[in-house]
Amino acid sequence: MPINPTPKKSLRLLFVSNPIGPLGSGLGGGVELTLRNIATEQIRRGHSLTIVATKGSTAWGMPLVEIAGNPQISAQTQGRDAPIIIPASSVLANMWDYARQVQTDYDLIVNFAYDWLPFYLTPFLTIPVAHLVSMGSLTEAMDGIIEQVVTQFPGTIGVHSLAQAETFSFANRCRCVKNGIDLSFYDFCAEPAPWIGWVGRIAPEKGLQDAVAASELTGIPLKIMGFLQDELYWQQILQDYPNAPVQYEGFLSTDELQKRLRQCRALLMTPRWVEAFGNVAIEALACGVPVIAYRRGGPAEIVEDGKSGFLVEPDSVERLVDALEKLDTIDRHACRQRVEAEYSNQAMGDRMEQWFSDICSKVNKL
Ligand code: UDP
Repeated sequence: MPINPTPKKSLRLLFVSNPIGPLGSGLGGGVELTLRNIATEQIRRGHSLTIVATKGSTAWGMPLVEIAGNPQISAQTQGRDAPIIIPASSVLANMWDYARQVQTDYDLIVNFAYDWLPFYLTPFLTIPVAHLVSMGSLTEAMDGIIEQVVTQFPGTIGVHSLAQAETFSFANRCRCVKNGIDLSFYDFCAEPAPWIGWVGRIAPEKGLQDAVAASELTGIPLKIMGFLQDELYWQQILQDYPNAPVQYEGFLSTDELQKRLRQCRALLMTPRWVEAFGNVAIEALACGVPVIAYRRGGPAEIVEDGKSGFLVEPDSVERLVDALEKLDTIDRHACRQRVEAEYSNQAMGDRMEQWFSDICSKVNKL
């Protein structure tokens, strides 16, 4: 045993955000909170860090370089054969041009974009890149380029859940780092109000209509919180379920979100796709709110059926209703404890720090 263990090396990290919209706008979905939490925790641990993001971003007081340019189209709106499209004056291209210019000031670049270009550029850079992949397999072009990177640079592809990894043919070469939140932002609520909640981007892959249908069937009021990404989809839901007691609260800051979320009897998670993780699951649990989720994707690895919520047959409104009837059997303290044990910023920070340091020391512990 060494008497004086080698002090931990402080890393210089360059976080390159996604090119969908400014940080803080909600356009980037869960990636925004994920980036914020990882950055805050790595700075707290003594690493230095700069965030590169679209012009108009907030970086919550952390060092930020804002880059102008046109956004990318969200990958989840495209078909499997979709070609790679990069607009004129692309913010994605501009962000990576900046990263190339300043790379020698850093030890590691962390890529938060689910886009082809950063993967393609990886071998052209002189410093390593950790790619935190935010969604499952969506297009052939993305699968191909991610596989190329994991083959050439083993250990550099991070995912949030095993289910997400399994959507790729190279699942066993992905490193699962899960996710985490700052528990001090979320207050525990022992006595809920009589309503339930649904939180997320209002877009077809999120399956809001099933939660609205469950609310209409049971008469339990549903509060909906999140970025309204697809107006036509939202109008269709209102038309299809005219008697559902729903209320749209808008896109809220984390603090406003948790103030409403913590009062919910349960959070419904009804995604139609393989949710890579589902930040909203751990946000709800942190407040003591049980999560009723379809048994697929990230939420199925977070929620313990019968303990911190219920996992039900995917796409079945009937099963959602059954679970709502059993809510009183869940101890809200057990929900908070689930996050404290596995998804705190501390727990997530340990996983991330180890991943970054493995990449930097070229020791790939998959
Ligand atoms: N969110 C928010 N305000 C809201 C509703 C949601 O800031 O009113 C955030 C929430 O904190 C979470 C993200 O939106 O981080 C949704 O992320 P999730 O991983 O659940 O899904 P994604 O949008 O990435 O598919």
